Amino acid sequence: MANRRDFIKSSAILAASGMAGASFLSSCGTGSAEATPTSKSFLGLQTYSLGDELNADVPGGLAKIKEMGYTDLELAGYGNGKIGDVECADYKKMAEDAGLKITSSHLSPSIWLYRPDKFDQFDEFWKKAVEDHVTLGVKYMVQPSMPNITSRDDAKNVGEVFNRAGKFAKDAGISWGYHNHSGEFKRIASKEEQEAADKAQREMLDQYAAMMGGGGDPEEQAALKASLAAMMSGMGSSVGETIEELLIQNTDPSLVMFQLDVYWAVMGQQDPCEWLEKYPDRYKLLHIKDRWIIGDSGMMNFEKIFNKAYSIGITEFFVELEGDSKGRRQFEGVAESAKYLINAPFVM
Ligand code: MG
Repeated sequence: MANRRDFIKSSAILAASGMAGASFLSSCGTGSAEATPTSKSFLGLQTYSLGDELNADVPGGLAKIKEMGYTDLELAGYGNGKIGDVECADYKKMAEDAGLKITSSHLSPSIWLYRPDKFDQFDEFWKKAVEDHVTLGVKYMVQPSMPNITSRDDAKNVGEVFNRAGKFAKDAGISWGYHNHSGEFKRIASKEEQEAADKAQREMLDQYAAMMGGGGDPEEQAALKASLAAMMSGMGSSVGETIEELLIQNTDPSLVMFQLDVYWAVMGQQDPCEWLEKYPDRYKLLHIKDRWIIGDSGMMNFEKIFNKAYSIGITEFFVELEGDSKGRRQFEGVAESAKYLINAPFVM
């Protein structure tokens, strides 16, 4: 009798403390009660990844996105008060019905408006956009397209215009950000830096030609120099500051944050982790992107990227896929990418 009473008592304690069942079984090594994870605390998707496949049936597509395990959306396609063909209020309702949160949105005004004589229209664009994004309920508005920047003065002017846009968003409680591609990692040298670099290159070519060009034939030396110069021309300038750096330096941290597209950073010959390390207070969001399906190419060190991002307080990221060169459906790539991240132990 005593044994039976003790058994009932200990079962009750186990149940009350939540130890009965799954965790008890899995600690015994059966593993069968440990469910495969179906999502993460945050798993964002940039809807651009789906393009027309989503536009064809927004409510149906959003339901599929939710089913894959995504929790949050970053929209694309804002214009004329709509997302694609859908009114902002309707889009919000559709996302809510699907159980998804609209956290961010990509949008850009015409590059044409980046000049003082067009600022009236520029301001009008952002005022209306902010109003519509309040309706959508976003935390972030992000510009993904780069105005023309070929000099340091250009970068300074663009930085000021970004601040101007950021102010409209901030007044409505929304963070305004800028998203890179690879062009932002092009370097812009000051006149002095360029002159010094050109001089160093001329000296190096002279030394090379003298070393290689036996007999000192001027024609042969010229050909050798031309050949080395051609080999080096694809390497891009190694002097000066990158446009990304100049934009960070020329924007007000209280008005402008940055979203790092980690794939485009790599395509710009950068280590995304170095940028996160250098500017932990400026990068607030990530684009998680690969050649197509996340984790497939092997050229992106996502474990290192996620660890670094979490260490500086970034918890929000959006998966992004562009078109597939093999012609597979975008929904397939987006679903495979979710699977990869859900199964990745380094994603929270
Ligand atoms: Mg991107």
